[in-house]
Amino acid sequence: MELNQKIPYKIYLEEHEMPKQWYNVRADMKNKPAPLLNPATGKPMTLEELSGVFCTELAKQELDDTTAYFDIPDEILQFYKMYRPSPLVRAYHLERALSTPAKIYYKFEGNNTSGSHKLNSAIAQAYYAKYQGLKGVTTETGAGQWGTALSMACAFLGLDCQVYMVKVSYEQKPFRREVMRTYGANVTASPSNTTEVGKKILAEFPDTNGSLGCAISEAVEAATSQEGYRYVLGSVLSQVLLHQSIIGLETKTALDKYDIKPDIIIGCAGGGSNLGGLISPFMGEKLRGEADYQFIAVEPASCPSLTRGKYAYDFCDTGAICPLAKMYTLGSSFMPSPNHAGGLRYHGMSSVLSQLYDDGLMEARSVEQTSVFEAAKEFAKVEGILPAPESSHAIRVAVDEAIKCKETGEEKNIVFGLTGTGYFDMYAYESFNDGKMTDYIPTDEDIAKSLAKLPKL
Ligand SMILES: *Cc1c(COP(=O)(O)O)cnc(C)c1O
Repeated sequence: MELNQKIPYKIYLEEHEMPKQWYNVRADMKNKPAPLLNPATGKPMTLEELSGVFCTELAKQELDDTTAYFDIPDEILQFYKMYRPSPLVRAYHLERALSTPAKIYYKFEGNNTSGSHKLNSAIAQAYYAKYQGLKGVTTETGAGQWGTALSMACAFLGLDCQVYMVKVSYEQKPFRREVMRTYGANVTASPSNTTEVGKKILAEFPDTNGSLGCAISEAVEAATSQEGYRYVLGSVLSQVLLHQSIIGLETKTALDKYDIKPDIIIGCAGGGSNLGGLISPFMGEKLRGEADYQFIAVEPASCPSLTRGKYAYDFCDTGAICPLAKMYTLGSSFMPSPNHAGGLRYHGMSSVLSQLYDDGLMEARSVEQTSVFEAAKEFAKVEGILPAPESSHAIRVAVDEAIKCKETGEEKNIVFGLTGTGYFDMYAYESFNDGKMTDYIPTDEDIAKSLAKLPKL
C-alpha cells in the first residue's frame, strides 16, 4: 500500500519553533467572560480573595482579561522539553479507511506517563506554587488523569501533593492511584473523614460513591485549613485554558509550516481546557477578523452542559464553597449517569468557552457513548493508538464530518484534539466489547430539577 505523503505523517517542530509564550484568548474577546463572584457578597472576586485559595501568580492570570501573551517561565519550558512538542499526525490511514476526500489531522497529547494533556497545566500550577515558597498543593481527581499529572509535576519540583480521588475511581482504578503514589502523592478516597465537608457529606449519604464536585469541596478545605498550601484545579478555570494554549500554538505553527488552513477544529469538552487550548490561537484570528474557522465542542449526551444546560451563575462544586462562575451548566447538583468518559462528567463549562459559545463563535454537539466507542475502535485499528474515551468523543465527530465530505466531495481540512490514551479505561472497553454498554440520556425533568437549584443572585 502506498500513501501519497506530501505532508509528513507526523509534523514535528524544531526546538527553535517551540512556543515561548502562552496565548490568552480573553484579550481578543469583545464580550469578556463574566467574572467569578464571591458567593458571600455576590461581588466579583478580588485578587486578595482569590489569593487565599490559589497561588498569587495564578490568581493574577485568572483575573487578567487583557494581556494577550504570557512568557512561559524557563523551568516550565525545560519540563515541556521532556514530552513536547506533541505530534500533529496526518491521519492518512483513517482517511483511507473512510474513503473521504477530507484531510484529517490530530494533535496527540497522550505521549507522556500521565497519558493526557493535563500535564501542560499541572507543571505550570506546581511551578507557581513552588515559586511562591509553598509547601504543597491539594486537588481533586475523578478518573485520575489530573491527579496523575499533578503528582508528576510536584515530584519534579519537590512539592507535597494531596489528591482527593472520587471514591468510585479510587476503588475501580487502583493503577492510576498507584502511579500517583509512585510519584509521591498522598491519595485519599473522597468523601473522607479528613475534612469537615467530607464528614458532612458522609453523614448525609453514607453509601455515596463520591463525585467530582464533592472532591473539589474537600480539596479546597484541605488547602485553606493548612499553612503553606493552595488549591489547584485541572480544568474549567481561565488560567488552565491559558496554559493549554500550548496545544493550539504548536498545532498552528505546525500547520503554518505546510500552509495548511483548517476548516473545522474539533475537541471534546469536559471543563473545556483542552478544547479551549487547542482553538485559542485560531479563535484569536477569528475574533480579530483575520480568518474564519468552524469550531465544534463535543460532549457526552449523558452530561450535555453546552447543548442542554443554561447560561447562568452556578457553583463549581457540590459543597458550594468555591466562587460562582457564569457558565453553561446543568446545575451543581446534577449527577451524571456513570458514563465511561470520567473526564467529561462535569456539570459546568469554562466561562471563556461558555461566552464564545453564547456569542455564536463556536458550535457544540452531544454524542452517545456506544457510538463514541465504535469510533474509538475503528480509530485504534487503523491509526494504532488506543484512545481515551474522552478523546474518542472528538474522533466520533471528526469521522462524522469526514463522512459528510465524502457525500459532498469537499476536501476539508479537519483538525481534532486527541487528548489521551485509554490504557486505564479497559473496563469501559470491556463493557463495549461485551455488548453491555448502554446510552443514558437525562430527561428534561432531570435537568430541570438540578437547574431549579441554581443559586439565586
Ligand atoms: C480531563 C480530560 C478531558 C476533559 O477535560 P477538558 O478540561 O475538557 O479538556 C479530556 N480528555 C482527557 C484524556 C482527559 O483526561
